[in-house]
Amino acid sequence: MGILMGLDDKTKPADSVHVNHYCCIEGCGKWGGLGFASSKAVDTQWWCSEHYPHGDAMKDRDSTFAGRG
Ligand SMILES: [Zn+2]
Repeated sequence: MGILMGLDDKTKPADSVHVNHYCCIEGCGKWGGLGFASSKAVDTQWWCSEHYPHGDAMKDRDSTFAGRG
């Protein structure tokens, strides 16, 4: 048997401030890659890309949204 180099080490969070945060929408369970906090005094909430409520500014203004607003 050879020695398996520790690929897992790359996926394990080191001693850092990184925390696991999943989409705050109940039942979603996806990774919450998008966070928003109204101020530094409140906890950051996290959403997946589908549920992120502040994403309008991030979306490309494609034809789907061209007529809105
Ligand atoms: Zn979600």
